[in-house]
Amino acid sequence: MTTAVIRPMIGQDSQFFWDGTTAGELRVQKCNACGVLRFPPGPACPECHALDRGHVVAAGTGTVFSYVVHRHPPVPGKELPIVIALIDLDEGVRMVGEVVDVADDEIEVGMRLRVDYRRVDDELTLPIWRKA
Ligand SMILES: [Zn+2]
Repeated sequence: MTTAVIRPMIGQDSQFFWDGTTAGELRVQKCNACGVLRFPPGPACPECHALDRGHVVAAGTGTVFSYVVHRHPPVPGKELPIVIALIDLDEGVRMVGEVVDVADDEIEVGMRLRVDYRRVDDELTLPIWRKA
């Protein structure tokens, strides 16, 4: 069976992030003016409003801040339930991600996770999270 996935919006602000996952890197946007890290990426720094942006490569480890177990409605290309977590990266930014190979009654706040990558095709590799 062919499964489709929901493709993220890839724009000028987030291209570097998806180039990173394709290369096996979890990239976090960094303000080149003041050094603040931010996620999600955007054109201007929320701290100093500078437009000069770069990125760092995160270690790919973090902690579950909160999570939801998605049971309904159906999601294209997904077998339910899926576990979606808000993850506090060790670098100090928070991002949302799918947690795999962790049962819906096993996931808990504070669980340590490590990023992995699921290649969809030549243009898209999704970050996924596993128990560290
Ligand atoms: Zn800044």
